[in-house]
Amino acid sequence: DQLREARTALDTPLFAGLPGDINVSFEFFPPKTDALMAQLWDVVETLGPLQPKFVSVTYGAGGSTRDRTHGTVARIIREAKLPAAAHLTCVDATKAEIREVAESYWEAGARHIVALRGDMGAPGVPFTPHPDGYANAAELVAGLKEIAPFEISVAAYPESHPDSPSSQADVDNLKRKLDAGATRAISQFFFEPETFFRFRDKLAAAGIDAPVLPGILPVSNVAQTRKFAAACGAAIPAWMDGLFEGLDTHPASRQLVAATIAAEFCRRLYAGGVRDFHFYTLNRAELSYAICHLLGLRPKAPALEKAA
Ligand code: FAD
Repeated sequence: DQLREARTALDTPLFAGLPGDINVSFEFFPPKTDALMAQLWDVVETLGPLQPKFVSVTYGAGGSTRDRTHGTVARIIREAKLPAAAHLTCVDATKAEIREVAESYWEAGARHIVALRGDMGAPGVPFTPHPDGYANAAELVAGLKEIAPFEISVAAYPESHPDSPSSQADVDNLKRKLDAGATRAISQFFFEPETFFRFRDKLAAAGIDAPVLPGILPVSNVAQTRKFAAACGAAIPAWMDGLFEGLDTHPASRQLVAATIAAEFCRRLYAGGVRDFHFYTLNRAELSYAICHLLGLRPKAPALEKAA
């Protein structure tokens, strides 16, 4: 029924009068240099007035960005006054180390953690828990809840996690994470709206009613996206290759095509009833901002004060 509804809604005029009744969140990665930090700050200042429900900052493989993630989250809370969530993984960390990191987030004013198992770093290396650490994200969620009353989000996989023996096992795993205390899931990226609608139906059938935000990756570089996608089991449809074909030497046109694809994708999700969108910004503002604008969202707050 949802699919039929979505298809009918596709016949409505393109972006005509969408009321902007959406909630958005934006994901960033911690910048490596001061120059890249300044660039991220421009992005935060551009996207901040859209009043995201939250923004989140990723955690590098093996805790490699521990201090940078912390510094970025703390600065966003302190200076941009946005609710910032810190990603945290179990990789290569004892429970005591995780406690220390979590407590330092609480002290910095962070109240929201995106709790993940993480990956080993090198592609194809199976996850091995630290002997004194957490074995998976569900255990991490339970552990964090004992440390402080954090709001916790977890990862969900519309096309199943590559380690999952079956898609049902993956849904069961998501349920364990929610039962352990997470209140929301954020999905891995995907490129066909129907993939998300089917996943949503499957979760509803499993009795999962927590919000699951679709993770939107606005693609402007197919080759780079293919690398990400191969590692996480997301499929890149053949039509996407076709649409970017021949645009390598036309960067401006490629960006326009990227915006059109991402906007149409989000419009279809909207037509299917989705009202919460999580953007993998890759520390760029333009595509996410343009899509939010097309979906009717306008700045709700004055521009953030420029950083000193
Ligand atoms: P889990 O939910 O613990 O498990 C992953 C899979 O393993 C499950 O889907 C399930 O198939 C299997 N599994 C786990 N436990 C069991 C069990 N008891 N029985 C059977 N099967 C089991 N990575 C980073 O390093 N840093 C980040 O900042 C980061 N941010 C992310 C944000 C989002 C929104 C998403 C979707 C992913 C992110 N990742 C990040 C990637 C993530 O760390 C990897 O996908 C990782 O492989 C799995 O993490 P998880 O939290 O989903 O793991």
